[in-house]
Amino acid sequence: MDKRTDVLVVGGGPAGIISAVTAKKYYPNKDILLMKNIANGCIPCGIPYMFTSLENPDDNKLGNTALDKHNINVAVDEAIKIDCRQKKVFSKNNIEYNYEKLILAIGSNPIIPPITGAEKKGIYPAYKDMDYLKNVVQKIKKAKNILILGGGFIGVEFADELSNAKGVKVYLAELLPHLLENSFDEEFYSLVEEKLRAKPVNVLTGTKVVEFLGRDKVESVRFDNGDELKIDSVILGIGAIPNTALAIEAGLDSGKGKGIWVDEYMRTTDPDIFAVGDCVGKRDFYTRRNTPVMLASTATAEARIAGANLYKLKVVRENKGTIAIYSTYVDGLALGSAGLTEGSAKKEGFEIIVGNAEGIDKHPGSMPGANKIKVKLIFSKQSGIIMGGQVSGGISAGEIINIIGMAIQQRVSLTELETLQVATHPYLTSAPTMYPVILAAQDASGRI
Ligand SMILES: Cc1cc2nc3c(=O)[nH]c(=O)nc-3n(C[C@H](O)[C@H](O)[C@H](O)COP(=O)(O)OP(=O)(O)OC[C@H]3O[C@@H](n4cnc5c(N)ncnc54)[C@H](O)[C@@H]3O)c2cc1C
Repeated sequence: MDKRTDVLVVGGGPAGIISAVTAKKYYPNKDILLMKNIANGCIPCGIPYMFTSLENPDDNKLGNTALDKHNINVAVDEAIKIDCRQKKVFSKNNIEYNYEKLILAIGSNPIIPPITGAEKKGIYPAYKDMDYLKNVVQKIKKAKNILILGGGFIGVEFADELSNAKGVKVYLAELLPHLLENSFDEEFYSLVEEKLRAKPVNVLTGTKVVEFLGRDKVESVRFDNGDELKIDSVILGIGAIPNTALAIEAGLDSGKGKGIWVDEYMRTTDPDIFAVGDCVGKRDFYTRRNTPVMLASTATAEARIAGANLYKLKVVRENKGTIAIYSTYVDGLALGSAGLTEGSAKKEGFEIIVGNAEGIDKHPGSMPGANKIKVKLIFSKQSGIIMGGQVSGGISAGEIINIIGMAIQQRVSLTELETLQVATHPYLTSAPTMYPVILAAQDASGRI
């Protein structure tokens, strides 16, 4: 069967939904069809919270509301082949979709580590599929000894969440010497380790898992020092790989396996095919080198760029590179990171200066609900341009990191941050005299 649509979006994750909605906004007369191979999706960032925080796993459902509201057609089907010359996508349901413009938003899949026994029952990768996850939630609710593999933000969030359940032992294993080491400097990741150890989560850093043991189902795990640990369930949180097979088969540049190659406007090597989100290779904001950042926020930013540029290039809407901005939450402690850490900036060879500030996020500090807040900013020593920042504290840290992220993207200078005009209120923010972003900039300027 043949179907025709002006714009075909393949993939129903955050990048697919936002590129379809944006395309409709910029080109309202175009017919848009979104094809997704998972009927019941979920909000990926909410996956760890389906286990205890959310009353019902279905509360984390990713529905079609935004698509319906914008008159975007939806097909539950799977793209199996693209013919770029004829501008057709062939599907599992034997439909040939003819398109004018195609957007690939086919995402990523969890990495399954090459560890002996990784295929055993009771070992769960974080697939973004509601039906699969509901089954995992039921199984994990009966578990007594859970190992989480990977101490990045996904592993940390799972450990925090699962340790809320009574009578469960939670182990978090990470190969690197520290949790969250790729995104935070020591002053910040040590707070997370303290919080988790106090819960208690058994934090096993510098630890390599070499084998999962058990008959059919996982029963224990062996580490590289020969120690074994009895466990009944494992959650894999060691990262994701971009889904590129469809693009490779179509002859598009797959970025040497690091994600589909796109230009600043999210066009692939075929100008009528765009690609967005986790399936796309990312280039660092400062170095333009490949960077393995896969975040829903980056995916949706790219989707907005693609949706706007589909038929006409709008120069103001271009991808200037990925800054790796994200926040997380561990047992009441909010943390955010944007751009380069002090460690990663030094490793890359940047000459930097650093500014730190600590304070309280309300004023006076005895206001109800006040929290400690800590800010670290990293600047280029020569130019004074901001290159990165980290925040920890109460809920406000989640938005303060977004101010820092904006500053990085706008290449704001130390002087501009030092003289920043901000809104302050006793219930809502730190005092104007003690605003931590300004104080951190001042601290850095004192070191020049
Ligand atoms: C547990 C977890 C927690 C996370 N938390 C955060 C967070 O707090 N903040 C954050 O920014 N990011 C977070 N992320 C990362 C975030 O989920 C991803 O960056 C985001 O989902 C990428 O969106 P996407 O649309 O590009 O890809 P995906 O979400 O992977 O969506 C791609 C979709 O395309 C479908 N598809 C693939 N191939 C085909 C085909 N051939 N035909 C039809 N459909 C197809 C897939 O089934 C999938 O539904 C988290 C990820 C996980 C796993």
